[in-house]
Order: sequence, then structure tokens, then C-alpha cells
Amino acid sequence: MTDKSKPDKEQTKQHNLLEPAGHNSLDETEDRFRIMADHAPVMIWMAGLDKLCTFFNLVWLNFTGRTLDQEIGNGWAEAVHPHDYDRCLETYVSAFDARKSFTMEYRLRRSDGEYRWFIDNGIPHYNAQGEFLGYLGSCIDINDRKYAEQLMIEGRREAEHANQIKSQFLAMMSHEIRTPLNAILGILELLTQTSLDNRQLEYLNVATLASNNLLVIVNDILDLTKVESGMLELEHINFDVIELTHLCVRLMMGSAKVKGLKLGVFIEPEVSSLICGDPLRFKQVLLNLLNNAIKFTLKGSVTVVLSKTTKSATDDECVLLVEVIDTGIGISPELQSGLFEVFVQADPSDTRKYGGSGLGLAISKRLVTLWGGTIGLDSSLNEGSRFWFSVGSEATSFKITITHDSKDASKETVPAGDLKASFVANILLVDDSVINQAVLSSMLTTVGHQVDLVGCGADAIKAISDKEYDLILMDVSMPDMSGLEATTIIRQLAVGSDIPIIAVTAHALAGYQDKCLAAGMNGYLTKPISQKDLLSVVNTWCAVNLGAAVEANTHLDLKMDDRILSELTKQFGQQRINELLLLFLTDLSAQSKAVKSAVIQHNILDIERELHTIKSSATIFGAIALQEKAMALEIYCKNKDLSSLQYLVDDFLICVERTSKFIKSICKEQQQT
Ligand code: ADP
Repeated sequence: MTDKSKPDKEQTKQHNLLEPAGHNSLDETEDRFRIMADHAPVMIWMAGLDKLCTFFNLVWLNFTGRTLDQEIGNGWAEAVHPHDYDRCLETYVSAFDARKSFTMEYRLRRSDGEYRWFIDNGIPHYNAQGEFLGYLGSCIDINDRKYAEQLMIEGRREAEHANQIKSQFLAMMSHEIRTPLNAILGILELLTQTSLDNRQLEYLNVATLASNNLLVIVNDILDLTKVESGMLELEHINFDVIELTHLCVRLMMGSAKVKGLKLGVFIEPEVSSLICGDPLRFKQVLLNLLNNAIKFTLKGSVTVVLSKTTKSATDDECVLLVEVIDTGIGISPELQSGLFEVFVQADPSDTRKYGGSGLGLAISKRLVTLWGGTIGLDSSLNEGSRFWFSVGSEATSFKITITHDSKDASKETVPAGDLKASFVANILLVDDSVINQAVLSSMLTTVGHQVDLVGCGADAIKAISDKEYDLILMDVSMPDMSGLEATTIIRQLAVGSDIPIIAVTAHALAGYQDKCLAAGMNGYLTKPISQKDLLSVVNTWCAVNLGAAVEANTHLDLKMDDRILSELTKQFGQQRINELLLLFLTDLSAQSKAVKSAVIQHNILDIERELHTIKSSATIFGAIALQEKAMALEIYCKNKDLSSLQYLVDDFLICVERTSKFIKSICKEQQQT
């Protein structure tokens, strides 16, 4: 066995190299330490039991340009940068008290006055008996690294700033372009309703096609900007994916028919209809793939397949796979990988031949990635393509079928139907743009509605005090007083508390809908507005108001149980029941406002409480539609599903509005008879 306490021959040899003969061993050790310390490529310091420094090597003294006497004790700290001093002192003292090693970075003043960054490592040191003697530390110059880091941070900050400015510019530009485009599309739509010869009609069709193409590009750029600047918020709600897929296919049926293509849907039996996600964005991606498939297929078919699959080879979580398969021109393998980049098309002549700008797939990829899915394709030249994407988790709560397909806040709208309105609505149009006034009012007056025009919020407030209106269409961005401010004021007036106000806005940014609702608006239309959408909104909000109560009851699927009302009338008499109904309406108005603000404030408990009260009163008066909707939302409250509540609250408020108007019209009729 070897005795480990004795140095071996080799160690003794090396040791002796540094050991000059004839010295006392303590002095010798100290001398050796000093020589090593003074010639080390780092700055070295030592501190005693009282935390005060007792030693600095030559490298340190040369750097600071001070003497040992000036540095020992706390003298050295005078050269520490004032901004770093407190932080360093705290690290030093707390490490010292805990007898722990520490690392800290600080700036130290050089003899020429320049501060340089150092990293300082301190360790507690003990004698052979284990007694604590103080601290030993070494400092390394990290100034170059710090400088490079700083440059990187500044570079990143500048790049982010530039990117933000680019995004804001693009968002502004697309917003500004959409406004005049709205006017162009509106006028073109009105022109088609005038008598035109064949040549004029042809010119009109070309102009409409070009304007619509421009609108697609502007919308694409706005979408891309929103995703890239993080402004796009995805919804996370339950929706019926099978129904939405059928809807997309129905929307594309016309284009497929024109080209003589078969368009079909195949849904694997295991696919459950309810999934959780963003229905509008799902629709956007699927429509883009369908549109491409039809565009690039000259003969044969386009098929949509929904099936279940696992997330990946390693992750067996179930996801929905959506495939769009065509028998079209196909894409060669070398061109496939770049297609999801912006402005990339398989063939540069594609824009000329087929239209499009090469943005659709790039946006689809970003959207699918944002919701945690994947997107891809398989394709062979001249044989066809299969584009696919995956969508996440199945819904957990109960099923609500979503029947809307429009982007505006009023989720369920009544179709515009025949272009001649079956009633006359008194509409106040508030817009500072004379062009917008002309376009929107023409759309409304050509079908028989009455429109009054005002150019600012203040005039709107005056107008509603002078005349009764069935609906206000309110531009949001107006000088002097915005549409939001005007709405807030109107809502405080007795005459304006329950006139439906619909925002007319070119803002398509996330969160804007909330702002409109928070100001007291009932819904919003996004420019450019088609006549169909506009009339649909008018029908939705005004139909019940106009003496067509019974007709509206069936038309709007506003379920009221007549038997309950006549039972109550028998019991209480007509006058009393009218009083009770009006009392119910007053409460309902306050409660629905409370629901709206609780949704905005994300207060699920308050939403649930108000819904519960509404449900009970609705049941008493036989307002079945309202009762059912309140009950449905209550379940979302129980599941703490705020996103679904946010999504469905508009639908609920429309139901409240319609029920109120229906009940008011019954009361009016009773008073007249
Ligand atoms: P756009 O269709 O507006 O040009 P996309 O980003 O949607 O832009 O598509 C990019 C390109 O991918 C198209 O221009 C086309 O070259 C190719 N492509 C997309 N879908 C198909 C398809 N189903 N068949 C053949 N080529 C396609």
C-alpha cells in the first residue's frame, strides 16, 4: 500500500523547482504564492475574516494604477462603477456571510479612467484544520464579450423596432387602401343593378374582378402583418368542424362547377364534429387550399377528406387531419419545399395564368403553426396534389352548432333575401366620408329603406333626439368625436339606450370587436361592405321592430311559447301582464348590459349570476329562445370557458334584443286594440 500523505518522487521534484534552499517554510510558501499571483494572467485579491481586503496582485495594481495601501481594506471599491457598486456589495456580503462561492460582473476603472467589465469569482478559503480564513478571488476581463453582447442586444432591438414600424406601416396602408376599395366595390355592385348593355356589363365584370383581386391581396398583406407582428389572436372555442367544412365546400361549389370539376367531401366515421379552435381561421386555411385546388385543376375532381390521425410518429395525441386532394397540374418535387414562403409560386407565370400573389400558403402555414398544427403537401407533376393540415384537440364541453359564416360581430344574421325590403327601416348613417355616405345610403335606399345622413358624432347625438330611428350605422374613425365616443354618449341618453348601433369600420385587428362592444355597440360590419351583408344586418336588427312581430317570430326562429303568455294573461289580466312584461324588459336590459360588461371584464361569476336570473325570468314569460341561450351559456360558465363565452355573447345579446323588441311590439299591439 502506498502512503498517500507522503509526496511521490515526481511531485517532490517539481515542488523543489520552486523551493529555493535555506528559507523558512512559511516565508517560502508566501513568496511562491506572491510570485505566482503577480505573474498570473488574471487579477487576484484576498480578504480576511472581517471582509476587508488584505491583498491585490501586481496585475490588479497595474490595472487600477493604485498602490496596495490605497486598495486594501475597502479602498478597491472606489474604482468600482457607481451603478454596479450596490449590487456587488450585496452579492459579496451575503456570499461571505453564508461562506459560499460567488460570481459577479462589474465595471472597474482602469488607471486611464476607462471602465472595463470584469467577471469576479470569489471562493471561501480554509486552513488545514478547516478554519475559515477569508476569501480568495480572481477577476477576468470580459469587456470584449460584454461589448459584443451589447451590440447584439442593440441590433436585435433595432431590428425589432424596424420590424414593428414595417408592420404598422403595412397595417396602416392596407387599412387606408381598404377604405376607397370599399367605395369602389360598393359602386360597382350598385352599377350592376342599373340597365347596361353587354359591353358595359363586360367592363363592369372586369372591374369587379380586379377590385376583388386587389382586396384579396390587401387582406392577405394585413393578415401576414398581423401574424408576424404578433397582433393576431386566435380564438379557442368549440365549433362544428364538419358543418364548417361543408360550408366551405358549398362556397366553392360555383367555381368548381364553372370548370366542370367534381367537388366532394369525405368524412371518416371516427371524426367527431366538435373541435376546439378558431373557426374563422380554419375556414380561411381550408378555403385557400380549396381555392388553389380548383384553380390549378383543369379537369377531374377536388376532394376534401377529414380523418383522425396522431400528432406525429412519437406523439400519439389525436388530431384532425384535413386533406384537399386534386387531380390538377401538380408541382415538381424541387419546387415544393419553397411554396410556403411569401410570394413564392411554382411557376412565375402563375400570376398571369391563374391569378394570385403567392401569399395564401405562407399565411396558411403561419396560421396552422400558430394553433400548433402542421401543414404539408405531396404532389406529382401532371398528376395532382394533396395539401393537408392538422387541427388540435377535440372539444370537451357540450355541442353548440354554430350556424354563422360571416366575419362580423353579429354571429347570426338573417339573410338579405329578396332585394326589395319587406319593411321600411329608418336608419341613421353616421360617416364623415361623403363617398361612404353615398355608397352605403344608395345600397339601403335602392331597396326602400329610409336613410338620414350625418357627418359626425355630435350631429348623430342631435339627430336621435329629434327623430326615432330603428338602427344607427356608425363609422368608427371620425375626426372630433369617434364613433365609440358618440356611442357611449348615446347610450347614456334615454332616447338612445336601446337603438341598435352597428359599427362600420375598416379596422380588422384583433380586439377591435371588444372595443366596439365595450362602447355599447351591438355589432360591427367590416369594410368593404357588400350590399348583401348590409341588408342582412338591417333585417337582423330591424325586422321585429316594424310591426311584423308574428312574421318575425317564425322568420327569426325567435321561439316564444304563446300558451304561457295567454295563460298568464288569463291569470293577471291584459293590463297587469303588460306591466309585468315591461318590468321584465327593464330588468332584461340592465341584466344583458351586465353580462356584456362582465364578459369584457372576464368575470365568469357575474356572467353566470346574470344569466341565471335572465333564464328564470325568460322561462316565466315563455321566451324559450332566450331561456335556451342563457342555459347554454351557463354551461360554458360552469366549464370556465371564457373564449366560448366571448364568442357566443353577441349571439345571446342579439337574442335579448329580438326578444325585447318582440315583447314590446306585443305590448304596443295590445295597447292599440
Ligand atoms: P397563390 O395561389 O395566391 O399564388 P399560394 O401561396 O396559395 O398563392 O400558392 C403558391 C403557389 O403554390 C401557387 O402559385 C401555385 O404555383 C402552387 N400551388 C398551390 N396549390 C396548388 C395546387 N393545388 N396545385 C398546383 N399548384 C399549387
